[in-house]
Amino acid sequence: MDLKLVACDLDNTLMEGVPIEPEVREFMVEIREEGIKFVINSGRPLKDILDVLSDSKVPCSRGYPEAIISMHGAFIHYLKGKNYIEDEEWNKEKEKEMEILRQEIGWKSKLWEKIIEDKFKIKPLRKEIDQGVFRVLFNNEKEAEKVREAITRESNFKYTTFLRNKCFLIATLSTAQKGCSLLRVAQHFGIPPNEVLAIGDSHNDMDMLNGRYGFVPAAPSNADEEIKSLVKSKSGYVASLPEGKGVIEIVRSLMDSH
Ligand SMILES: [Mg+2]
Repeated sequence: MDLKLVACDLDNTLMEGVPIEPEVREFMVEIREEGIKFVINSGRPLKDILDVLSDSKVPCSRGYPEAIISMHGAFIHYLKGKNYIEDEEWNKEKEKEMEILRQEIGWKSKLWEKIIEDKFKIKPLRKEIDQGVFRVLFNNEKEAEKVREAITRESNFKYTTFLRNKCFLIATLSTAQKGCSLLRVAQHFGIPPNEVLAIGDSHNDMDMLNGRYGFVPAAPSNADEEIKSLVKSKSGYVASLPEGKGVIEIVRSLMDSH
């Protein structure tokens, strides 16, 4: 492929844990020298992502990553000099929609607690269900998926989608998932979707891996089985190596195939 932009999920894709391995960090520099842009597309808030980069000694002053998409697609920031500047038009609109999301889900908190604890008799490992927040860590992926299906059936929201990331279930903005925001970033750089490589490992990455926006999808070997099947079905690349090493394998292989 004619590769111009690599968009990569952070947790369990670019890294197994903090810090990002030096080999992976250097690889980011190497592809930049080839004229390929690098974008982080994560469910974490921007501050968290910047902390990971700083702990990993990724010097943004050297010009990468060129953009950061945070909160599962809700917010976009571009690197200008040494700072990340927000995509004002997009972020302002999403901020407003987040407020509606909080209202949409706020009054149903009690119902969801009932579904989880009374109906399914599940005791989550961690639970933040409050006015406008829904973030629950289950004991296993099966539990999380069962609750996701039940809650999705019970709700008909305009701005809220319940996304599962491994054992986590999170309420996210339906109007700005990872793929939709990545399309905006690609357009900002003037890069067509078929020159964009999207790499992810879990369900919250599906929006950028399912072919809907025309990106080339890929996954590291540690990705969820369902994700690997999805990537294969879209003629994408599934690495034989996990996490950061898998990312390097994927990008090298696609660069060589050009
Ligand atoms: Mg991940």
